Amino acid sequence: MEQTLVIIKPDGVRRRLVGRIIQRFEDKNLTIKEMYQGVLTEAIAQEHYAHLKDKPFFPNLVNYMTSGPVVFLLLEGKEAITLVRQMLGATNVLQAIPGTIRGDFADSTTENIVHASDCQENATIEIQRFFR
Ligand code: UDP
Ligand code: MG
Repeated sequence: MEQTLVIIKPDGVRRRLVGRIIQRFEDKNLTIKEMYQGVLTEAIAQEHYAHLKDKPFFPNLVNYMTSGPVVFLLLEGKEAITLVRQMLGATNVLQAIPGTIRGDFADSTTENIVHASDCQENATIEIQRFFR
């Protein structure tokens, strides 16, 4: 079993998509181990996206991620990290295919509804950051 960290981003909460997103993970037989709603501080948002700090969109990304409440999910299941990334869809809005969360709901590469850990190393760090 693997664990991964998902964040339903501020636009996902504002658009009342929380229930439908969680439903998809449960439909795929993933287990919700822990879950809560909260607001990212600027410092934590900057830390979470530190690998992107030199990108031109970074300030906009931090503003967006701190713009309202988010929902944190600690999910568990077989190959959960890769599986959940597949369920999210591509980062680029035009490459996120229908049937994925981003493909079905996002119309922007920045405001793209959900985050999920992209590898085991980052899952460990991100679970520690938001659940420990
Ligand atoms: N992002 C953006 N513009 C880009 C690439 C990424 O605004 O050209 C934002 C978007 O919200 C994305 C986040 O930065 O989800 C993190 O980028 P990353 O490349 O890690 O994509 P992800 O892992 O979320 O698919
Ligand atoms: Mg990423």
